[in-house]
Amino acid sequence: PSFRATVLTLFPEMFPGPLGLSLAGRALEQGIWSLEARDIRASATDRHRTVDDHPAGGGAGMVLKPDVLAAAIDAAPSEGPRLLMSPRGEPLTQGLVRELAAGPGCLIVCGRFEGVDERVIEKRGLREVSIGDYVLSGGEPAALVLLDAIVRLLPGVMGKQASGEEESFEGGLLEHPHYTKPNSWEGVEIPGILLSGDHKAIARWKQERREALTRERRPDLWQRHKTGKI
Ligand code: SAM
Repeated sequence: PSFRATVLTLFPEMFPGPLGLSLAGRALEQGIWSLEARDIRASATDRHRTVDDHPAGGGAGMVLKPDVLAAAIDAAPSEGPRLLMSPRGEPLTQGLVRELAAGPGCLIVCGRFEGVDERVIEKRGLREVSIGDYVLSGGEPAALVLLDAIVRLLPGVMGKQASGEEESFEGGLLEHPHYTKPNSWEGVEIPGILLSGDHKAIARWKQERREALTRERRPDLWQRHKTGKI
């Protein structure tokens, strides 16, 4: 496979989940990428297979034990960077997705409970990645999001490579609106220019729509686009 993903989780049965279907599922079957979900609990050594313990200093919830998680990491294949899904991580962007997709694979650690012992992050060099400013109950859905975004960029996964290039965020802008037949639907017409056959004018229209939408909805992206920092 051109990309090997390993996921460390307490719920391996959540994988491949939705990634076993559609585009990603087909690519998985074709061997374009591989996915191995490993159970963190298999690295627990005591009789009860304990993976968590109470937080030092008190407080609610439980924390994933450093020794168990480190043993799981050390036993896993070491392809590409080691990531930890975490609400306090660097925000996941299309740029980071591209960077990861260009590599040989990655190891993704899914947190649970209150999170993982800070020392594993340090000692095993985990790069923390967040999928947004909200809190999930576990890192698994975040890992699925990350992998979905990576897999569609792998060579041979998307039928028409171009469909990936005009999209939202590529070039720092949101995407223009799309239309398809019928030309008139519930009294609304497809913008005439799209039916004109004038490719230059169509390209200009798309670019204008992209800029207007971005300015309106995402002033943060618009500022970055204007200053050339994507
Ligand atoms: N106590 C943590 C905090 O306040 O930052 C939240 C822990 S959360 C309940 C449990 C796990 O879900 C985290 O360890 C992380 O792996 C995952 N998670 C939650 N929100 C996430 C997000 N926005 N992005 C990535 N992973 C997230």
